[in-house]
Amino acid sequence: MQNSKASFDALVIGGGPAGLSAAMALGRACRTVALFDSQEYRNEGVTMMHNVICHDGENPDNYRDTAAKEILDKYDTITLIKTKIIGAKHITAGARPRFEVTNNEGVIWSGRKLILASGTREIFPNIKGYKELWGNGIVHCLFCDGYEKRGGHVGILGLQSMKELTFTLMSFLLAREGVTVFTNGVSSVTDNDAQKARQIAEARGARFDHRVIESLSENPDGEGVRIQFREGGYQNVRMLLSTPTAINRAADLISSLGLETETGPNGYVICKSPMHETSLHGCFVAGDTSTPAKIVSVAQATGSLAGIGAAMQLAMDDASGSE
Ligand SMILES: Cc1cc2nc3c(=O)[nH]c(=O)nc-3n(C[C@H](O)[C@H](O)[C@H](O)COP(=O)(O)OP(=O)(O)OC[C@H]3O[C@@H](n4cnc5c(N)ncnc54)[C@H](O)[C@@H]3O)c2cc1C
Repeated sequence: MQNSKASFDALVIGGGPAGLSAAMALGRACRTVALFDSQEYRNEGVTMMHNVICHDGENPDNYRDTAAKEILDKYDTITLIKTKIIGAKHITAGARPRFEVTNNEGVIWSGRKLILASGTREIFPNIKGYKELWGNGIVHCLFCDGYEKRGGHVGILGLQSMKELTFTLMSFLLAREGVTVFTNGVSSVTDNDAQKARQIAEARGARFDHRVIESLSENPDGEGVRIQFREGGYQNVRMLLSTPTAINRAADLISSLGLETETGPNGYVICKSPMHETSLHGCFVAGDTSTPAKIVSVAQATGSLAGIGAAMQLAMDDASGSE
């Protein structure tokens, strides 16, 4: 299939809850869909997802596999292609504007609409053991994780801004043995936002530990995380809350298409319509990459909107002959 060009009504980049929902909507509209999945998921390695009605506590791999099987079994216009897309173009020359995407083997797929459901990924702080405990002791969102770990000592890593304060305050109801902010050596902050966050947390009853962290590991004496300090000594916590910066996984595709984005630690592609169309006509966005509310239920909902939006636009294009 090298350099051949297969054409579809819609190209959907992403096989997570957003992309799968978008593909389902398009399948139900009898549209041909190429659904691309590089198999890199944000909640990779997590054994249980929460706060998803009817799926609370389900393994995310199982959830994705079941959803993919369901849409492929029921809607024969959907093709799942397990490959990484490395290029995306909007072609305006010729009678029909279209999108073309390509993988690293030079295969090209063409589509009248494009849906980016490519998700986000976190940039981890440079602390030994952090990556290994991500999603397994280190908690980034109390709605996703945390309730099951209630009852012990809660650690907060950082607290550098007001953005991190909400989860800190919420964690008091989960922490029977108190809340400690581990600043990793950053004992004083000059930034007003960070100062305010620390003052509010302290007034609520948080303790502060300013020792430099040497490493993080599983607590060998029980559940949770062991924080080892550079000067010696350690502290065990039942969970360690930490919200690192998230960036778009397909940032290069987003920038090559010239889409308007909201920057910042929780950045996303800006939607210009209720159906999640971007600043580029015919290009839709869904899931984590379309919103600061990066959770599965929102990914499903926005995926449905983008899929429905693309299907409606295709019908209008067909009627007007404009495509
Ligand atoms: C540790 C952790 C635990 C979490 N737990 C929960 C929870 O309990 N409950 C909850 O609601 N949310 C949870 N979340 C958030 C949840 O994982 C995301 O909100 C959700 O996965 C977003 O779905 P998505 O489809 O937008 O992106 P993803 O699930 O990340 O899927 C992105 C898809 O795009 C594909 N992709 C990306 N780039 C390309 C490319 N160039 N070519 C081809 N394919 C590409 C990927 O391979 C993947 O298939 C958790 C997140 C983390 C980090």
